Amino acid sequence: MTSHDHDGHDHDAHHEALDAAVDARDDWARRRRKGIPTDENLLVVACMDERIPIEEALGIDLGDAQVFRNAGGKVTDDVIRSAALTTNFFDTDEIIVINHTDCGMMSAPDEAIREGLEAQAGDLDDADLDPSLPELNVGDADLLDWVKMTDDIDAACAAQVEYLRESEFIPDDTTVSGYVYEVESGELRRPDERIAEAISERRA
Ligand SMILES: [Zn+2]
Repeated sequence: MTSHDHDGHDHDAHHEALDAAVDARDDWARRRRKGIPTDENLLVVACMDERIPIEEALGIDLGDAQVFRNAGGKVTDDVIRSAALTTNFFDTDEIIVINHTDCGMMSAPDEAIREGLEAQAGDLDDADLDPSLPELNVGDADLLDWVKMTDDIDAACAAQVEYLRESEFIPDDTTVSGYVYEVESGELRRPDERIAEAISERRA
């Protein structure tokens, strides 16, 4: 804020500061139309779990990355769709997958999930996975393949990275990496770099 005395308010400084703020906001609001990409040309695919502060964990700010969140941070058809659009048309050249410890995708027994969803949906042949593609249903596949429960978050995270790397829809020069967010420590680690676990195993 510009300082001013009792007699003369510094109106010039006020409107200059406001103009700068309005211009900055306009760049923000029209960044796509102005060809301004996300600051890091980055797409983050993460679990929807409310304990993961994406920007804070990655050391980035709001506006630096596009963020796609779903149950488990899984590479589903809609992640492929979103990644295909942003890498081919929005200058995104990097994708980071974030899975996390204590994920709800590891907590429930498979049978309970299957039975609960079947009880809700009824006849699976008539249950739409995508309202715009009524021909798309679970078919002969196991409902759990769609739900994507897991019991090894490190293996699951590494698998999501591979799915993106192997997708025909995503350019080969896109950098794809994955991390496990430890909700206990608030730190990221690479899959299978379980430092605390390795230390406790050594002591045992
Ligand atoms: Zn989760």
